[in-house]
Amino acid sequence: MLGFVGVGRMGGPMAGRLLDAGYSLCVYDRDPEAAAPLVARGARLARSPAEVASTAEIVLMSLPTPDVVKAVTLGENGIAGGNRVRSLIDLSTTGPGAATIAARGMAERDVTWIDAPVSGGVAGAKAGTLAVMVSCPRETYDTKIAPILKVFGKTFYTGDKPGLAQTAKLVNNLLAAAALVISSEGMAMGVKAGLDPKVLLDIINVSSGRNSATQDKFPRSILPGTFDYGFTTALSYKDVRLCLDEAEAMGIPMIMGAVVRQILALTQAKYGPDSDFTSIAKLSEEWAGVEIRG
Ligand code: NAD
Repeated sequence: MLGFVGVGRMGGPMAGRLLDAGYSLCVYDRDPEAAAPLVARGARLARSPAEVASTAEIVLMSLPTPDVVKAVTLGENGIAGGNRVRSLIDLSTTGPGAATIAARGMAERDVTWIDAPVSGGVAGAKAGTLAVMVSCPRETYDTKIAPILKVFGKTFYTGDKPGLAQTAKLVNNLLAAAALVISSEGMAMGVKAGLDPKVLLDIINVSSGRNSATQDKFPRSILPGTFDYGFTTALSYKDVRLCLDEAEAMGIPMIMGAVVRQILALTQAKYGPDSDFTSIAKLSEEWAGVEIRG
């Protein structure tokens, strides 16, 4: 039996894929509604992270922020309070700082910490096409963890230093947010000049400007005006903040990154933390006085 804590937009479909693959699951989420579809499929419902960790030797978690990860891991009724867990896999975007603290806390209890942040969005979580970035002891990866993580998509082993995979994930998410910001500016300009946004995207997507926003986020969530990509502004802002704070601690200036951070701050102030992060495009739309629809 595997344990799973945090079964929201990403954790829910990932846990569902583990059930599809034949694993039995013990799950916990602060929100009972998030766990209900998995329980209906036979997963056992626990009343706390500690109960999950007293039921399963290997526990996975997909939680929103580094503070929640630390609390669920080391806090009251946390995973550290369970008596069966030996390996703890963190699928959340936690950042290297929090990962290092949590890994140290769990090592004192003889539990191996595995960083396994993912990229590919809710669609990738459902389809099993995520990129899974892993740092943990090599032997743990080879003998215990890789077969489980391959259920989610393609795995990339980065090394044994706690937090190393988290750094890879933060760099990726900085680039993903930057692509959305700059693509929104370009698309708004094109529409204002009289270009059909669908034609403009078709051109860009076979040309040198193509990126994850033009290929996926615009066609899926901005052109239809649904703004439902499945990743909140608060989480994207959190990732970019974590990345920039880490870079600053390393003494590395990130000038473009700082601009992206401010655009996310503006998006959050205007549309709220629960807005979809594709709402970044609404800022450019407002400044240009157009809507990018098609
Ligand atoms: P989400 O908010 O949909 O899911 C988080 C879940 O954790 C929720 O169901 C919530 O109820 C639960 N939770 C919160 N606090 C809890 C607690 N104290 N105890 C137990 N459960 C708790 O968020 P998400 O979009 O699924 O993101 C989860 C993680 O994955 C984040 O770290 C995010 O940065 C990362 N991520 C998200 C995406 C995406 O596209 N949504 C893609 C890659 C990575």
